[in-house]
Amino acid sequence: MTGTSPAAAGARDPAGLMGEPSASGRFGEFGGAYVPETLVGPCQELDRAFRSAWSDQAFRDELGGLLADYAGRPSPLSECLNLSHELGVRVLLKREDLNHTGSHKINNVLGQSLLARRMGKNSLVAETGAGQHGVATATAAALFGMDCVVYMGAVDMARQELNVFRMRLLGAEVRAAETGSGTLKDAVNEAMRHWVAVSESSHYCLGSVMGPHPYPWMVREFQRVIGDEARRQCAEMLDGGVPDVVVASVGGGSNAAGIFTGFVDTSAELVGVEPAGGAAVGRGTPGIVHGSRSYLLQDEWGQVQEAESISAGLDYPGVGPEHSHLAATGRAVYKQVSDDEVVEAFALLARTEGIICALECAHALAWVSRARSELQGLTVLLNLSGRGDKDVAQMMGLLG
Ligand SMILES: *Cc1c(COP(=O)(O)O)cnc(C)c1O
Repeated sequence: MTGTSPAAAGARDPAGLMGEPSASGRFGEFGGAYVPETLVGPCQELDRAFRSAWSDQAFRDELGGLLADYAGRPSPLSECLNLSHELGVRVLLKREDLNHTGSHKINNVLGQSLLARRMGKNSLVAETGAGQHGVATATAAALFGMDCVVYMGAVDMARQELNVFRMRLLGAEVRAAETGSGTLKDAVNEAMRHWVAVSESSHYCLGSVMGPHPYPWMVREFQRVIGDEARRQCAEMLDGGVPDVVVASVGGGSNAAGIFTGFVDTSAELVGVEPAGGAAVGRGTPGIVHGSRSYLLQDEWGQVQEAESISAGLDYPGVGPEHSHLAATGRAVYKQVSDDEVVEAFALLARTEGIICALECAHALAWVSRARSELQGLTVLLNLSGRGDKDVAQMMGLLG
């Protein structure tokens, strides 16, 4: 199995995708900043602060130091010989599961906390679904000596008791979002409401490439370290080549955006995998939620519909606006997998490679496994976004 393509720079990205959004924060017809008047100022302040920080080498160096010495970067690129043999597809894993706190979320959180400190803010507010982003934010708040409030859906709090305890142990205050379905989208609503009241002293540390401008762009830039590293690591492993396919799971879309940035200008096929029950790109229509325009699961009246997935981290009815643009331009494609396929993939990786992964990234592997006959002999780079400790109890109920 060879099948790696030469890195044809520019070959697949004639439109200069994944650069800076327009001045109004748009990626094509998606994005923008649809916020109440009280948040217009704070979003503009954040845009200015991020631009200044991101062009400041001292800021980048400090963040790079934290990512290396605190989070454990660079994360390895692992060649999966057993799995590749079984599937007939050469599979390389970008090991974000090995980061401190167990997923890619720490990359974004360290960037935003450092930015918050630079802006003179002494507290963080965040939303969380399964609790991974809340734990990462509480971790950074502890490290930087900041106060931290995390909103979590009441239903999710009951499902993810252990993460609620972790956040409290780290010194964060966890508040229940009781509205709606008591899940992630409700936690985002509450966190934004809270931010309106305290934006003077507090930074809203949003967990994915969603929300109003500048969040989708800023979070993607903080996650691009995944793609930049993987591009270098692949070049080394593949004799200067790039993989044929780059695949990642998509909830809001931050881990996918992070790895896509490293390959958008190459011949690699970019594939995002959504849960069938939360396929915003696959089954949604353009609409506005949480401050930006993107594909969205909504009913005929424009009411946001509930997403439903085996993995709480992908239980989100929307998707980051840049993914909508990548889909609309055809540069990336988005596939759907069922919960049953995900459980099978989760077990497959454990059995063949000795890696218990998060259910989120098991979605990406589920697609590779299903598409194996089209992928024979090709090289696939899969973003292993997180480790599966948090999911083991749930899987024991299904597989045990
Ligand atoms: C939160 C999470 C995701 C989904 O979020 P994205 O913004 O789509 O990356 C995926 N994998 C893991 C391990 C997560 O914790």
